[in-house]
Amino acid sequence: MHLKHMRPHHLREAVERGDPLLVPAGCIETHGPHMAIGHDTIIVEEICARIAERMSVVISPPFDFGPTGYALGGPADGTIDPDYPSFGAYVKSILRNFLEMGFKSTYVIIMHQGMEAPLALAFKKAAAELSFEQVLADGHPRGWWADAGLARRAARWGYIQVLPMILPEATPPAEGDHAGYNETSFLLAARPELVDQRRLDIEPAPWYCQKNEEKNSWNAHAEHGRLMIDAVVDAWVARLQRA
Ligand SMILES: [Zn+2]
Repeated sequence: MHLKHMRPHHLREAVERGDPLLVPAGCIETHGPHMAIGHDTIIVEEICARIAERMSVVISPPFDFGPTGYALGGPADGTIDPDYPSFGAYVKSILRNFLEMGFKSTYVIIMHQGMEAPLALAFKKAAAELSFEQVLADGHPRGWWADAGLARRAARWGYIQVLPMILPEATPPAEGDHAGYNETSFLLAARPELVDQRRLDIEPAPWYCQKNEEKNSWNAHAEHGRLMIDAVVDAWVARLQRA
């Protein structure tokens, strides 16, 4: 269920059941002349929707405006890059609220630039800080670590995890790139109306579209996308059911 659609009793029930909270995090970034600039968030939202068909989860509104470093263009190309300290503070404030709502397993899901890039690190840093700070916020005294039982109960270690959308167990067939064979196929399978491969021959296609002869944005196809989506969703459902 979408967090935005819940009434307070739905929220209480989801927390009591121990439902995981899935948080799509991405960016607005140019993805060639043929793909929607919101791809990296949209594809995570599509994966979350498919996970929700298989098990009880809560889906957070997405974080759409993550850091890009203007690595592939600027605003005129369709790329937004936020102020990083402001973004980090915003992320932390919302994650704190998720903890206060009572969620014990929040998964921030990322399909943009890898797990050591500014987007993933903003969430990881916030999660790490909150796991310590919430102990004091709960009123426990400084020096709380000395009491191992209290530390286990009070610290929020592991309550918020930041993971790649493509979990390792989904590869192969699922793999990443930038607007190339894989991402174009992902979007063709999930939201075909947001891809127009004809634009690749109308506008100059950037380097990342033409990685090699066999696998590129031109010959990306929905069937490959469906195989990747199925593998990614299967991996997530297995991971969440194990947790
Ligand atoms: Zn992308």
